[in-house]
Amino acid sequence: MMKFHISTFGCQMNEHDTEKIIWVLEKIGYYQTENRHEADLIIFNTCAVRKTAEDRVFGQLGELQELKRRNPDLIIAVCGCLMQKDDIREYFLSKHKHIDIVFGTNNIHKLPQLIDRHLRTNEKIVDVIEDTREISENIDSNRKYSYKAFVDIMYGCNNFCSYCIVPYTRGRERSREPESIVREVENLAKTGCKEVTLLGQNVNSYGKTLDNKISFSQLLSLLNDIDGIERIRFMTSHPKDFSDDLIDAYKNLEKLCNHLHLPVQSGSNRILKLMNRQYTKEQYLEKIYKIRELIPEITITTDIIVGFPGETEQDFLETLDLVEKAKFDSAFTFLYSIREGTNAAKMSDQVPDDVKHDRFQRLLDTLYPIGLESNRKLLNSIQKVLVEETSKTDDNILSGRTESNKLVHFLGNKNLIGEIVNIKINNVKTFTLEGEIV
Ligand code: SF4
Repeated sequence: MMKFHISTFGCQMNEHDTEKIIWVLEKIGYYQTENRHEADLIIFNTCAVRKTAEDRVFGQLGELQELKRRNPDLIIAVCGCLMQKDDIREYFLSKHKHIDIVFGTNNIHKLPQLIDRHLRTNEKIVDVIEDTREISENIDSNRKYSYKAFVDIMYGCNNFCSYCIVPYTRGRERSREPESIVREVENLAKTGCKEVTLLGQNVNSYGKTLDNKISFSQLLSLLNDIDGIERIRFMTSHPKDFSDDLIDAYKNLEKLCNHLHLPVQSGSNRILKLMNRQYTKEQYLEKIYKIRELIPEITITTDIIVGFPGETEQDFLETLDLVEKAKFDSAFTFLYSIREGTNAAKMSDQVPDDVKHDRFQRLLDTLYPIGLESNRKLLNSIQKVLVEETSKTDDNILSGRTESNKLVHFLGNKNLIGEIVNIKINNVKTFTLEGEIV
């Protein structure tokens, strides 16, 4: 039996790709080990979004040199978004001669052939498919959880936000056929899965590339009819494509969770234009007001970048103003960092680090009280929580998520993992809720 170890960097897409890689490897007789030192095959599934993630992969690959020296039969493979970029791939290969196999985001299904070729020839194998219209449907996943699952509904992105590398690494947008998605979710339901999270860079434009056009809300409606599935989530939306029919879906589909993640990135129209986001602050807020009016209990979260090139104090104040008006439940906040290969990297007016850090802190100081206030509204309410795991330090403390995606801690038996239980919320913090089973 051959053992493999895999390290995953980046977003849910990469996490789900890793589940596919594990499935592919287990089918050919490999089994997974958590100990890199005993592995026969080590894989890095990389992320290109932030330079820091690239540097971490680069450093960790360097550390493998010694392992390879002691065990020349060890196979070292690198895949994921970083390897889709020619310049980065060439740089990695030139500096880390001990890499044996490189493959990209579009050819996970070929991994067995690539390993076989390497074992037969002992040659370095580089197999990256640049841009493709193809979608490989004959690949399953070894899922980390039985009760919740990621399901890809589309790949790639056509938006070319000026700070983002994704369209260059994951290619142009293409959607899976709805029949394949429904089949996959039906099969998940049969094995006891209760919650699916639909993945795509811009799920709101799902179906546009298909011959038989279908909208994202129509897909949601098909999935809502599948017995056994109790919750449907999705990641990620683009504000410019967020439409009224999706608001209707929130109203009409009982399994669609009351949580919307709608990345805004900035509250300044000037910066939004430089980012090529294709909406204004006013258009964004109009959508938020509308959905809050129609679905008052919805949780809305976002992504915000601080210190984009050229961001002035006035631009930043516009962002704070938007945060206060939108009343986000929480936000993923990022300090802008240069990503070579993107248009924003060529912009000259970079914001000094100390200014970025100061604005970042002021952004958090604005976000946190709003998040806490939103959580306070849940005090004494009864929430349906999907139990996900035990605390790392105490098996009797469980955690799970409300339908609106809030994290809740409570006492209970770990046999409840995977079940949906009623929790009375009796304490709230900025990021978490606490309660008891009722
Ligand atoms: S929508 Fe923009 S930020 Fe999101 S993946 Fe596409 S280019 Fe990147």
